[in-house]
Amino acid sequence: MYYFLCDNHNSRNQAIDCANDYDREICDNCGAIHIRYKGIFKFKIMGKLYDYYTYIGMPVISEKFLNILRENGYTGFEVSETAPRYGTVTTVGDPIKEKYYRLTVTGRCGPICDMNGEPFPYCKKCKYKMDSIGLIATGVSFAPDAYDGSDLFAFDSLYNIPIISEKVKNVLIKSKLTNLRFVPLTEYIYDAKITKEHAIRRIKKGVAYPELIEAWLKYGVLTEQELNEQLDKSYD
Ligand SMILES: [Zn+2]
Repeated sequence: MYYFLCDNHNSRNQAIDCANDYDREICDNCGAIHIRYKGIFKFKIMGKLYDYYTYIGMPVISEKFLNILRENGYTGFEVSETAPRYGTVTTVGDPIKEKYYRLTVTGRCGPICDMNGEPFPYCKKCKYKMDSIGLIATGVSFAPDAYDGSDLFAFDSLYNIPIISEKVKNVLIKSKLTNLRFVPLTEYIYDAKITKEHAIRRIKKGVAYPELIEAWLKYGVLTEQELNEQLDKSYD
């Protein structure tokens, strides 16, 4: 069994935004926005200090967590320094003495697949998963030959949620790290729904990309005929 490593999102104890500098790139094939943070990563921690946070989809780990990864010789990640501070929603407080690191998962297991091993539609250019394809499914999987064997790894098309094995999970539990939540891949809800009305609105606005339209036809969001009607209108 494999698990996504998530945190326990909770409004009182969490890591929150602290104005970071970043470069922003929009994929011209699928519209996905890719953000690359620059400099030392800043964030605020509200409430108690825990060992793990996913802050805006970015995993952050404590020094204790990092030591456990290193002591066990785990592969598939890189870390960089951060500058955490105490804080609330509206205020920034003092710097935190404990060290935290931003975790970048480098291990890979190919695109996200459904339980039958068929990849969900993803952008062929930036490789990221496409939202709003018109599908909701329970359970995801990866192709064994696409997995590079790293201890920490992620889907090409969802690269910021770490995946771990049962064995690694047990080590993390035994180490008493806090704020971890393990979501079995087989129970993960792949939610990429969209209504017909919303899809039509996107076509009208000109923000429906060819690969997305292909997915809408595949998953029955639109029929061929409904699509053609919209395209005819938009050329008027
Ligand atoms: Zn893309």
